Amino acid sequence: MTVRASDIVLYMSCPRQAYFVSRGYKLDRVIATEYVEHLLLKELAYRFPLLIKNDDLGELPAYLNDIANDAQGDLSAIEKSQIMDAISNIDVDGIIAGMENAIGVLGKDVLLQRIVPWKKEYLMHSRRLDMSGRPDKLVLINGEILPSIIKTGNKPEYGVWKDERIQLAAYALLVKETFNNPVNCGLIEYARYGEFRDVNIKHADKRIALRIKNGVQKVIDGPLPDKPRKVPCESCAFIDLCRVKKSLLSSLF
Ligand code: SF4
Repeated sequence: MTVRASDIVLYMSCPRQAYFVSRGYKLDRVIATEYVEHLLLKELAYRFPLLIKNDDLGELPAYLNDIANDAQGDLSAIEKSQIMDAISNIDVDGIIAGMENAIGVLGKDVLLQRIVPWKKEYLMHSRRLDMSGRPDKLVLINGEILPSIIKTGNKPEYGVWKDERIQLAAYALLVKETFNNPVNCGLIEYARYGEFRDVNIKHADKRIALRIKNGVQKVIDGPLPDKPRKVPCESCAFIDLCRVKKSLLSSLF
């Protein structure tokens, strides 16, 4: 089975998560407020370019309410009250302040160049790498195609989290295969903060991405991996599955 770039991120979080997802389980099946926030913020981030283009940052809360009222896709299955709870946790003023800062530092045109998608959720597939991936955006800057990911969780103080860098490296490999366009830079949008960060993608990151991809392949094709020592079980939707004895679990798949 072809490895998806998103599986690489799961594997870095916990190899068992990659195993369960490869067997059809959904990691987001527990509808926690955090998950609803993620859906809302992601949808909102896709509208950032319009808000900036129209000098409409003050309208951001209204855009968020529109997304809630219009609840499409995964949001359509969620209770309105749960959506409103999630909205109350989103710091809209913080997002606006972050975007104002980005406009001040980069200028509106440069910022728009970085966040207006050339292609949205474009599926790339490489038979040679036996890998596929669908970054949130591909952006076109001075003839170069860069992968861009929208993140809705916390941001590090500087730079980006390691798993995000490796995910971008996997997308960079796929862009090179698909468009014959070498990629040494990617972008992360921290939607919760209205912040946009450039990421240099090094050769070492691409090597790590390929190494982890091989690890994912083994997990997909193999038996249930052992539970690693340091993994985020408290916030994992698979916690009940993982409580079942390993011998019994292996016989289920
Ligand atoms: S419950 Fe823990 S061990 Fe099991 S998949 Fe989730 S993070 Fe991994």
